[in-house]
Amino acid sequence: MNNGALVLFSGGQDSTTCLAWALDRYERVETIGFDYGQRHRVELDQRAVLRDKIRAIGPNWNNRLGQDHLLKLEQLGAISDTAMTRAIAIETNEKGQPNTFVPGRNLIFLTFAAALAYRRGLQHIVGGMCETDFSGYPDCRDATIKAMQTALNLGMDSDFLLETPLMWIDKAQTWALAQQLGGAPLVDLIIADTHTCYIGERGALHDWGHGCGQCPACRLRADGFAQWRLSQRE
Ligand code: ZN
Repeated sequence: MNNGALVLFSGGQDSTTCLAWALDRYERVETIGFDYGQRHRVELDQRAVLRDKIRAIGPNWNNRLGQDHLLKLEQLGAISDTAMTRAIAIETNEKGQPNTFVPGRNLIFLTFAAALAYRRGLQHIVGGMCETDFSGYPDCRDATIKAMQTALNLGMDSDFLLETPLMWIDKAQTWALAQQLGGAPLVDLIIADTHTCYIGERGALHDWGHGCGQCPACRLRADGFAQWRLSQRE
C-alpha cells in the first residue's frame, strides 16, 4: 500500500496537529493550503513558519516532509457572502450555523486535494474536520467526509483514504494528541505559531496562543486549552 499522505494544512491548531499525526505515520507527507480571501489570511503566512519548525520535532519528520502546494481559490470567497471572507459581525442563523460558514468549502477543498493527490501518487488525504465540538459546519460531519471519499474514489477511479484524526475528539483532546505526538516542543510550536482567530488578529500571546479571545474559534481554542491543562493536574 501507498505510504504517502497529503495534509490539508491551513496553519491553524487542528491542521498542524494533523500534520504531526501524518508525519508520525507516513513516509512521505505533502501539504496543501487554500487562499480563498479569508479574513484570517495571517494563518497562510504561518504555514511556512510551521512547516520549517515542525521538521525538527519528530524523528524522521525532516526527511518525511515534502512539497507544499498553495492553491488560489479566490472565486470561493467571491461567491460566498460570509463573515469568514467579509468584515461583518459573526452571528448564528436560524439553522444554528454561524455566518462564518462558507457553503461547500470542505467539499471543494477535498476535491482539489484529491486531484492533487492523484497526480502526486498520494493515497491518504488528511484533514482536521471534527464533529465533536465543531462550529455547526455540516461539511465537517463524518457522514459528509465518508460520502466524499466514495464520490472521489468513484470519480477518479482511485483508492483514496480520507482520514480525519480529530473527528471524534474535542479541543482538550486535540491538545493532548499534540503532546503525545511531539511532546512539549510541538505544544509550544502550536501555541506560538499556529493561527485560529477568525478575525485574523494575532495580538498578544495568551497561554493558549495568539488571537482576539472573543470570536468562536478563539473561545473554543482557549477553553480546550484550559480543560487540557486542568486534566493534566488531576
Ligand atoms: Zn479570535
